[in-house]
Amino acid sequence: MPFTLFQNRRKKLLAEPMPAEWIPYLQRNVWHYHTLGEGERASLHDVLRVIIDEKNWEGCKGLVMTPEIQVTIAGQAAMLLLGTPHDYFANVEAILVYPYDYVAMEQTVGPGRVVSEAPSYRLGEAWSQGPVIVSWPEALTGGRIGGDGRNVVLHEFAHKLDYRDGRADGVPKLSGREAQERWSEVMSAEFQFLVNAAHDGVPTLLNQYGATNPAEFFAVATECFFEQPREMRHFHPQLYKIFQDFYGQDPAVRVEAMLRTHGQL
Ligand SMILES: [Zn+2]
Repeated sequence: MPFTLFQNRRKKLLAEPMPAEWIPYLQRNVWHYHTLGEGERASLHDVLRVIIDEKNWEGCKGLVMTPEIQVTIAGQAAMLLLGTPHDYFANVEAILVYPYDYVAMEQTVGPGRVVSEAPSYRLGEAWSQGPVIVSWPEALTGGRIGGDGRNVVLHEFAHKLDYRDGRADGVPKLSGREAQERWSEVMSAEFQFLVNAAHDGVPTLLNQYGATNPAEFFAVATECFFEQPREMRHFHPQLYKIFQDFYGQDPAVRVEAMLRTHGQL
């Protein structure tokens, strides 16, 4: 669809109010929603509505797509876009949702370059060209339980931000040379720290799946940034700062404000 048609369609869509019954889905299923102020909630509503409207949503293996599933997934994905110029995940054409952790055949190359294929249980998946795939129970649990550092929707959509420049290397599109240099300096050191800790069996705040490669490190660090921002700011201040600059958000301050409101801080 030509860009102006997209713009007209978006304008028309956002001129209408968001369906009122979507709010309870966000309150119930998207923990991060409770940390947002009024203005941010309004932005989140707009972004998630465009994501719901413009992507192909497909229920797989008998899963019936519902507004609740769409709002829960799009609401979490939209968190990534609140503070930064974006294109509504233009490189995501489709979102495939499974009713359970699905099985993908994974190829591995063994000794003598023998390729073997074995089933691998996945919670989610994102390819540079292609859909985002998530398991609905995992997306729901990830959205409902904040503060545990695990969120499959944030993880897979972070991969899509990384792929925006055509490379799955843990380096998303950054503005300016200084930001790029700072990014590579901090990310290399933090990645190495996680690799060493994983190797030595030392527990870490970041999920050690992030030690797989720099692309996974970026996705895992994104989960931590939004899920455990105060801990990340405390234990990894430099990493927190570059993510704060990249995402244009300060979730640690937001969580503190929420805790204060509830008399928990
Ligand atoms: Zn990943």
